[in-house]
This record gives sequence, structure tokens and C-alpha cells, in this order.
Amino acid sequence: MENQGIAVQKSAHKQVDDVQHYINGKFVEGRSGTSFDNINPFTNEVINRVAEGRQEDVNEAVMAAKRAFEHGPWGTMKVEARMKYINRIADLIDEEIEEIAFLEALDTGLPISQTKKMTARAAENFRFYARMVQAKLHGESYLVDKEFINYTIYKPLGVIGLITPWNAPFMLETWKVAPALATGNTVVLKPAELSPLTANKLAEVIHKAGLPEGVFNVVHGFGETAGAALVAHPDVKAISFTGETTTGSIIMKNSADTLKKVSMELGGKSPFIVFEDADLERALDAAVWGIFSFNGERCTANSRVFLHKNIKPQFVEALKERVANIKIGDPLDPATQLGPLIEKAHFNKVQSYIELAKEEGCEVVQGIVPEELREGNFVPPTLLLNAKNEMRVCQEEIFGPVMAVIEFETEEEVIAMANDVRYGLAGYVWTNDIKKAHRVAHAVDAGMLWINAQNVRDLRIPFGGTKDSGIGREGGHYAIFEFYTEPKVIHVAIGDHHIPQFGKKK
Ligand code: NAD
Repeated sequence: MENQGIAVQKSAHKQVDDVQHYINGKFVEGRSGTSFDNINPFTNEVINRVAEGRQEDVNEAVMAAKRAFEHGPWGTMKVEARMKYINRIADLIDEEIEEIAFLEALDTGLPISQTKKMTARAAENFRFYARMVQAKLHGESYLVDKEFINYTIYKPLGVIGLITPWNAPFMLETWKVAPALATGNTVVLKPAELSPLTANKLAEVIHKAGLPEGVFNVVHGFGETAGAALVAHPDVKAISFTGETTTGSIIMKNSADTLKKVSMELGGKSPFIVFEDADLERALDAAVWGIFSFNGERCTANSRVFLHKNIKPQFVEALKERVANIKIGDPLDPATQLGPLIEKAHFNKVQSYIELAKEEGCEVVQGIVPEELREGNFVPPTLLLNAKNEMRVCQEEIFGPVMAVIEFETEEEVIAMANDVRYGLAGYVWTNDIKKAHRVAHAVDAGMLWINAQNVRDLRIPFGGTKDSGIGREGGHYAIFEFYTEPKVIHVAIGDHHIPQFGKKK
């Protein structure tokens, strides 16, 4: 029966139409006419072909976006009118939720039950920014004295380049596109080459919503060509990037020549600290979810789990049981909890870290991938037991379903280990001692800390990391005030203030 179930699901891994760029309100092949294969991570077969953007395609998209910004009505129309478009995009995403969740699961290997939730969240991103911009995007005014009023207005920057990764691609794209458009900018999106399907769907949705030509553009292609051309383009005013730390560093360097504003959401190696007085059952649920959902390809994943030595034996036993029972399978099966990794190269990278863990002295405990799934990029849920924080497997981002388990004895010791890493994206603290919970949350150097919680977040709060995990914050009003707009100050004389009269004859 089990085999039959998998066979039925495989038939759903159908061909989908080839993907084109979306430039100036039209779906186009691209100037070079070249394209590349898009591979299904479950079967390693070709899903379709994707237009490969080059410098000339980026130039065309940026030119369209610049025209739309300078001459179009987008940035200058009444805010209510612009928000109607933004809300319409959200409604259209809701209408297409099944299709988008399907395409995302097909393209990335993420389980469809999880892509569905992220698609719903993507629609919320647009609604949230429509509300946020209407309610909050206003300046201040100052009555300086009887001579002067000063006031500020927040202006869109112009053409924004958005460069996004393949993990949770649709949600992460909307997380940037929604505030960029809502604040009146125009956009060129360069989605990850490994997950083009839902970026294409986003273009279809935005096209259907009727945005003016050139306001939103998508150029597909590789980072070193299409991405680099966007970063180097003098008419692109800012780059919002999410991806690996090393790529972020290259993009920052390349942005310097044209003095671009940059926002960087980068990698993580987040600690999950369980004290002996914690609610262990809930901590276990959260630890397992936090590293094995989204196939472990999650920036905020709790890849380092620190267990107090008194609860470690029982916690590890429970982890082993969970790992053995996680449902590995077809990403299109609603019951699947863990799907295949995005591509063979990434699968090989994660496997090589598991081998390294053995060499470094860890005991490796894994779930079992069913025989019939062997052609997909499946890495089973994996525990690296007896890990030490200084090992490479505890210092480097593996970005797969791999949890390192590290023992600790004292609060000071665990804080020191949690912070002894180049990343600072997220952290999790589990204890029922309220003082200790806050103390440790304050001491862990990361942008986001959760106490007795898995990583749920309200859209109003800032998202981002410290150290090598990023620069700047996305989300809430931070995105609109600190990145997608800039303040302009107007000084108004309302009286006859003194003006020095250089050169005037008395
Ligand atoms: P990546 O850095 O390999 O690629 C991200 C994007 O950058 C892709 O679109 C790629 O084509 C493009 N790119 C690559 N080289 C470029 C260049 N020289 N110039 C311009 N663009 C270039 O990252 P990935 O493997 O797609 O994503 C996984 C990484 O993203 C992980 O490190 C993960 O932690 C991180 N991530 C961070 C967050 C966050 O919010 N902090 C969220 C999700 C993912």
C-alpha cells in the first residue's frame, strides 16, 4: 500500500510551462534567448526550462522600472489607490493558494502542508504593508519658532533590486516585494535560479492585479550574471538581499562602486538552550520542529541544541524516537513532514557534513529514507550526538535536517558557547525560571530570541540578525522607514527671519 501511495503522488510531478522573464508588463524570452533546466528535487528530472537573464535583460528591466518610477503614476498616486493594488495582489494569492503551494513544493521539495502555510503568510505580507503604509508612513512637523516650520516626508528610493534565495522562496520574495511596492518604489526581482516557479507565479498574480507596466519586473538567471548585473547597475538605488553570508559579502563589495543602500539577511547557526527546569515535552516539540520542518533549510533553524547535563539522557532518548518517526516522503503528499533537499549539490554538501561529524567524533543517529525514495535528494533527520561547540559541524551553517546536540552544566558556560560562533540570527531559551529566561535571552548575541516558544512572529516586529547574520532589519515599520524610503526635510519660513546681507550697500 505504501508503495502505491508514493507511485500515485509521483504522477503529480507533472511538466509545467517554461518560465520567462517579466519585464515592462510582458512575459518575454530574454535577449540572449538562452535558458536552463529546472530540476525536480524529488525525482531529479527536468520540470521545465527557465529563461536565463543576462546583463542586457537586467538593463531592460531596470530601464522599465526607472521609467515607471519617474513618469508613471505609481509613486505619486493617492496612497489609497496604490493600496488597492496591493490588497488585490493579496486576494489573488489567496485565490491561487493551492496552485502556488503545489508549485513551491514541486520546485523546492518542501512539504506541501508547509508551503501552503507560507503562501497564506505571503498574502498577509501584502495586506500587512497596505495597512502599515496607510497608517504609519508619515513624517513629522516641527514648529521651530515663530519664524520657521520644518517638516519631513518619506520618499520612495526609486528602482530597488531584490535578490532572494530558494528556501521558502515565495514567502521571502513577498516579504521584500510588498513593502517595496507599497512605499511607491519600482522593483526588479532576481529570484534564486533553483526555485523560479513561484516567482513566475508572483509575476502572473501582479500582472492580473493590473499594476502599471514596469512597476514590477522579474529577471531569472544566475547570481554571478543576472544578480551581479543588478547589483552593479547605476540606476538601482538599493539592494535587498537574502542568502548566504559569503554571497552577502560579495554583494556589499560590488554595491560600493555605485554607493547603494543594502539590506542583508544572511545565514545562521542558532542555539536552542534547554535548562533542567524547562517544560521538556514542549521544548522537545519545538526543537524537533525548528530543525526538521522546511527540510532543515531554514535560516532560523535551531541547528545547535544545548542540553543541561541532568536532562540530556532522557531528552536525547526522546529525540531519537522522534527522528525515527518523522514522515519522510513525497513533498506533494499532505502527510509528508520531511521532503528532499533542493538539489544534488546541496544534498552532497549536507552529506559531507554528516561524514565530517563522524570524523570529528560525533555519534550520528538518523531516521531511515524508504528505499523507493532513493532517487530524490533525501537526507534523513539526523542527530549529531556528543557534539562539541568548537567542531566545524557546530560552527558552520549546514542548512539541512541536522541537529548537533551539545551538553552544558552552567548558565555562564552555555551563554559563552551560544555566542562562540560567527552568526547571530536567532536563539531559543527554555526554562521556567523567569529571571534566568530573560537573563539568558539578553546575553545571547542574536537579533531574535524566543523564550519557551518556537519561532512564531508577529509581522510588526523587526526580523534580522547580528554579527555575520546580517545588516539591517526587515519587517514592521523598520522595512518602510529604514530601508524602502528616505526622509526629506522641508524648511519653511513663516516669518521674516534674519538673512545676512553680504555685499549689500548700506
Ligand atoms: P545564495 O547566497 O547562494 O543565493 C541567494 C541569491 O543570491 C540567489 O538568487 C543567487 O542567484 C544570488 N546570487 C549569488 N551570487 C550572487 C552575486 N555574486 N551577485 C548577486 N546575486 C548573487 O543563498 P541560497 O543558497 O539561495 O540560500 C540559502 C541561504 O540563505 C542560507 O545561508 C540561509 O541561512 C540564508 N537565508 C537567510 C534568511 C534570513 O532572513 N536571514 C532567510 C532565508 C535564507
